[in-house]
Amino acid sequence: MKAPSILLLSGLLSFAAAPALAADTWVRCGSLVDVVAGQTLGPHTVVIEADRFGELLAGHPGAPDEVELIDLSSLVCLPGLMDMHTHLSSEFSPQAYVQRFTLNEADIALRGAHFARITLEAGFTTVRDLGDSFNVSVSLRNAINSGHIPGPRIFTSAKSLATTGGHADPTNGWRRDLMGDPGPREGVVNGLDDARQAVRQRYKDGADLIKITATGGVLSVARSGQNPQFLIEEVEEIVRIARDYDMHVAAHAHGAEGMRRAILGGVHSIEHGTYMDDDIIALMIERGTWYVPTISAGRFVADKSAIEGYFPPVVAAKAAEIGPLIQGTFGRAHAAGVRIAFGTDCGVCPHGSNALEFEYMVEAGMSAADALRSATINSAELLGRQDEMGRVAAGFLADLIAVPEDPLEDITQLSMVQFVMRDGQVFLHAR
Ligand SMILES: [Zn+2]
Repeated sequence: MKAPSILLLSGLLSFAAAPALAADTWVRCGSLVDVVAGQTLGPHTVVIEADRFGELLAGHPGAPDEVELIDLSSLVCLPGLMDMHTHLSSEFSPQAYVQRFTLNEADIALRGAHFARITLEAGFTTVRDLGDSFNVSVSLRNAINSGHIPGPRIFTSAKSLATTGGHADPTNGWRRDLMGDPGPREGVVNGLDDARQAVRQRYKDGADLIKITATGGVLSVARSGQNPQFLIEEVEEIVRIARDYDMHVAAHAHGAEGMRRAILGGVHSIEHGTYMDDDIIALMIERGTWYVPTISAGRFVADKSAIEGYFPPVVAAKAAEIGPLIQGTFGRAHAAGVRIAFGTDCGVCPHGSNALEFEYMVEAGMSAADALRSATINSAELLGRQDEMGRVAAGFLADLIAVPEDPLEDITQLSMVQFVMRDGQVFLHAR
C-alpha cells in the first residue's frame, strides 16, 4: 500500500490563497492526458482565460509578453479529479463517538477547512459531500466559493436523511433521555409529510442535493448494517420533492432490498452497494442509476475491525462482515456495465488518501483509463455538469492537476500530485 499523499506533499510549497490571475496564463505541460480518448498526448500548452480553459496549443510555442507562464514541462497534466462521496467535516477515529458530545459546531467547521485543503492538494478539485453535522459543509462550500479558504468545489447534501433509528439518525446508541425525538430538521423522517418537510428544509439550509440512508450502515451504533430503512413511497416522495428544487438524491445502501426500493423510488446514485445482486445490477442498468463504490471505506473499516477496541463491538462485527465485500461488488458491477462514478467515502478513510481508490479499482479489473474517466467525465455527468467539468477543453472550468509520470501506465502516480489549479487559480505547485 502506498503512503497517503498528505505525507508526500509535506514540505512542498502551497498557496492558501492564490492571487487572482491577470490576463491569460499559459501552462506548459510535458504531456497531457486526454481522458475521453484514454490516451496520453505529447507536449501541450494549456491556455487559461480567467476561470476557464481557452485554446489547447500543441507543443510549447513562444508566449506573448503579457502572458503568465507556468512551466510543468517535466510533468503530465490531466483534468482535476472529482470524488462523488466525501464527508469533509469529519474524519473517523476511535474518538469519533465521544466527540459527538465534546465538539462544538465551530470545532467541526475548522477541522472541515483543514480537510478541504488536504483534499484539494491531493488533486481533487470537485467533491460531493454526502452528510455532515450542523450543515457545516454548506458554510465550508460558501467560504471556498468566496475565496476565504482553499478547498475543492463542493456539492453538498448537508445533513443526511434517515428514518427513526436509521443509519443517519443522529441519536443512535445514545442514552434514552438524550435521544429525544429528532425530526425532519435533524434529518429524521417517517412518512410522506416528514419527507416533504425534510427535503424543503435542506433546500432552505442551502444544500445542493439530498442524501438518504436507504439501509443500515457500518459505523452507526445499531444492530444491522444492511436492513431496509425506508418505504418505497417515502423514497418516491423525497425524489419527487427534490426535483422541484433541482436536487438529485444519493442513497447510501448495503442490503439488496433497501437498494431495490431506492432505485425503484428514483434515486440518482447508489453509494457502497455492497450486497448488489444480479437483479439489482440489471435494475440499475435499466434505470441508468449511478454506482459510487467507495472501496476505500470498505478496506479501511475491514482493516480496523481487526484491531481490538478500535470500534464498539456492534460496529466491529459489521465492519468485518461488510467492509471486505465492496471491492468484489465493484468488480461485478463494472463487468456488467453499471455506470460508475468515483467515490471514496473519505472522512471514513483519511482525507487526502482519495487516490488510493484508483488503485483498488484497477486491482478489481477496471482499466486505468476507465478509472480516470470515473473521476472526471463520469462524475461530471453524474452532477449534470458534463458541459463544463471533467475535461481539459476550451470553455471548461480550468481545473488542472499534474503528476510526475503517465497515470495510464502507472495508476499510483495519482497519489503523487505536484500541481493543482482550480477555477484558474493555483493552489499547489511543488518546486
Ligand atoms: Zn459516506
